[in-house]
Amino acid sequence: MLRSFIQVRTDSDFPIQNLPYGVFRRIEDSEPHIGVAIGDYILDLRILEDEGMFFNSNLKDKKIFYEKSLNAFMSLGKENQSIARQMIQNLLREDNPELRDNKELNEKCFVKITDVEMLMPVEIGDYTDFYSSKEHATNVGIMFRGKENALLPNWLHLPVAYHGRASSVVISGTDIIHPLGQFKPADKDIPEFGKSKEMDFELEVGFLIGERSKLGEPISVNEANKYIFGMVLVNDWSARDIQRWEYVPLGPFLAKNFATSVSPWIVTLDALEPFKTEGPNQNPEPLSYLKTNGNPSYDIKLEVYIKTQKLSEPYLISKSNFKYLYWNIFQQLAHHTVNGCNIRTGDLMASGTISGVEKSSFGSMLELAWKGTEPIKLPNGEERIFLQDGDTIIIKGYCQGDGYRIGFGEVSGKIISQ
Ligand code: CA
Repeated sequence: MLRSFIQVRTDSDFPIQNLPYGVFRRIEDSEPHIGVAIGDYILDLRILEDEGMFFNSNLKDKKIFYEKSLNAFMSLGKENQSIARQMIQNLLREDNPELRDNKELNEKCFVKITDVEMLMPVEIGDYTDFYSSKEHATNVGIMFRGKENALLPNWLHLPVAYHGRASSVVISGTDIIHPLGQFKPADKDIPEFGKSKEMDFELEVGFLIGERSKLGEPISVNEANKYIFGMVLVNDWSARDIQRWEYVPLGPFLAKNFATSVSPWIVTLDALEPFKTEGPNQNPEPLSYLKTNGNPSYDIKLEVYIKTQKLSEPYLISKSNFKYLYWNIFQQLAHHTVNGCNIRTGDLMASGTISGVEKSSFGSMLELAWKGTEPIKLPNGEERIFLQDGDTIIIKGYCQGDGYRIGFGEVSGKIISQ
């Protein structure tokens, strides 16, 4: 098994097989730097670039790791990204003395993860949110429209989505300001205005676009991989009472666009490749432009924790898996562009809430507490049906390999009163 000269615990999210990209700031220094995570450290790619370590002309000439975000690197395309990954992986190998034995460079280019502030790694372009979990769509459908109309007729034929708002996509750790809005209590004839009473999280995973596409040129399911740079964890914060009132007939608006949190490390599809797996059986058979072969999904274990102000430590409230998603990322991207819609570097495409069949795998408070009828009991005696001010939600994700894991780190956010 490939090993690094940097010691990495077997339960670390960031072994040499992962090498996710992020943007960080050293506490004593305000300049953002691009790096990859390795064990408890970040390898500072800007410093490696200073040292002329990136000898490939496409990478070197452009000073690609001198940028304040990953967009320039992401736009270079899969081939260059794979070359960079191989170069970085090679430099970190335990049997390669080039960086390992250069003590002076070592001291400059490695920084402890705990000594930095992680920044938004990408200038997010457009944000699209899918709705690709059959279990989640069915659960919400039952609660919003009743059992008979739970899954609408289009759902099994296309990956339903809406255009979200990129301006409010925030990095993990950013406080979430409790939104105000309009909602109509079931026993009233007219709506009220105030703080949402039904604050929720949504367990999602998003992918980020690398190379851009051209307007008018659809991306096929088989080419989609080329345009996807990597994946992050996403919490698509939601206000259910606002959503229930406003969503007819055009879909979510203010119930969703006040904040969407993303994790700081972008895990590449190259790193996730060994964890490809089958998705759910698709019946009815999708139309030909949506047909995928082989293993189009990924086995990513997902966990959601809540930390209230009174709880001494975060408490696990859901365990789900990315592979439960009915529509895979290649189908999502093919569908998104089939009408000629172009995509640009840095666009974020989120999966939609990922729920499994079991209640313990539901990806939102709405489902876990079943619209407020089954409160979640916390170990200190507190109960929750929705989130309250002061509550923090932490989402973690990883793929379990044999003796190593490909982890995403976490995305967290705390709801605060405005
Ligand atoms: Ca969502």
